[in-house]
Amino acid sequence: MQLHELTIQEAHAKLTSGDISSLDLTRAALERIQAVESKVDAFITLDEASALQQAAACDSRIATGDTTPLTGIPLAIKDLMCTKGMRTTCGSRILENFIPPYDATVIKKLKAAGAVILGKLNMDEFAMGSSTEHSSVKVTRNPWDLDRIPGGSSGGSAAAVSADMCMGALGSDTGGSIRQPASHCSVVGMKPTYGRVSRFGLVAFASSLDQIGPLTRSVFDNAVMMNTLAGYDPADSTSVPEPVPDYTAYLTQGLKGTTVGIPAEYAALEGLDPDVSAAVENAKKVLQERGATCVEVFLPNTQHVVAVYYVIASCEASSNLARYDGVKYGFRDSDPAGLMEMYKHTRSRGFGTEVQRRIILGTYCLSAGYYDAYYGKASQVRTLIREDFERAFDACDVILAPVAPTPAFKIGENVEDPLKMYLSDIFTLSANLAGIPGMSVPCGFSKEGLPIGLQLLGRHFNEGSLLKVAYNFEQATDYHKQRPKL
Ligand code: GLN
Repeated sequence: MQLHELTIQEAHAKLTSGDISSLDLTRAALERIQAVESKVDAFITLDEASALQQAAACDSRIATGDTTPLTGIPLAIKDLMCTKGMRTTCGSRILENFIPPYDATVIKKLKAAGAVILGKLNMDEFAMGSSTEHSSVKVTRNPWDLDRIPGGSSGGSAAAVSADMCMGALGSDTGGSIRQPASHCSVVGMKPTYGRVSRFGLVAFASSLDQIGPLTRSVFDNAVMMNTLAGYDPADSTSVPEPVPDYTAYLTQGLKGTTVGIPAEYAALEGLDPDVSAAVENAKKVLQERGATCVEVFLPNTQHVVAVYYVIASCEASSNLARYDGVKYGFRDSDPAGLMEMYKHTRSRGFGTEVQRRIILGTYCLSAGYYDAYYGKASQVRTLIREDFERAFDACDVILAPVAPTPAFKIGENVEDPLKMYLSDIFTLSANLAGIPGMSVPCGFSKEGLPIGLQLLGRHFNEGSLLKVAYNFEQATDYHKQRPKL
């Protein structure tokens, strides 16, 4: 096995035993990026010199015996988390030259743990999208089929991990943006409970839904990254002072006594690909064989999830994105006739079509005459959706579901049809509306050989239960061992 193919767990063992150095690992990752980046297009910014410098510092640190499971491990970051001195574009023209003066809390934590940060990864502009086609920079390709989307909005993160360009990555998930690309690229993705991981320094899309989480090649690696990322942060007022367990401790627990809920409404949804439903059905059997009990659960408000999410997310986005006015940040129209024209030109040239669509939709829904009918009503139904999950979790520990209704679609296939793209988020949006944790683990391939992910949803702060079920599933299957041929 080549160095760039190692999991974090394997690389850590080799680093601490002295078999390899962080410089070896980092060079291997950089060489891999050189070899495949022109096909995959995952990176927006790559800082080789800084990566090698960080790796050398890690080697000195490892020599003193002061290591964490992430020391010396090459990682990459979705380009919407602030990295001090490193450009953070959010996949948008409006921030194309923004160099943050500070690190997001998650970046500080990774740096303190000794991770090597290679660079920043492509994404849909302001994390709005499900395909990475809405990036103002470029379209990332799915390493399993270069004519297809890698998913989104954290498409660069999933593609880079899947193509072995980095050992793990950070993504953000507002309505599925970690789980869906993880599913399309056959990697493990975790959206933690709202408030579990600090959002300080994350460029905001929809503040009541956004959450940062890890994408990795194994469930163990995911638990390791969660150990570093999770925890209270006084700089984020929505961060929760809940103690952080050792997530790896859940992995060795068996599934006896674990009840898995299967939502009755999901199987009946139109447009579910037969290969996806077969893979999820097979996963159910695998978990039963390992001792889990399956029960039917009900999420009666499923039909409203897409509408509620797109109203709430767009409302919050319209408010959050008001700050990009050409005065304080980034891009400014160069030759306006006056102040109003400067605002107008800056925003109409700086933002892409999808972002403008959401700002217009959100502004409309928040306007005086419509607030109650749209934002107010959506907020009420959001409560009902959360209550559906509370009731379902009275009957089960973990919910099993598809991540996306179909495997990765072709580049260009849905880009002209925003409604179709929105509808494909049906299985992932509700976890964000309810604030609960969700995970995607590789669970099969379609007839065409495209990856399929299994979604696990849990109670607030029960990431450990998701990791336990995911790890048991991974142990019983070998989907995660298959690699794309690039
Ligand atoms: N696809 C969803 C959207 O376009 C979710 C995006 C996300 O999770 N950032 O809003």
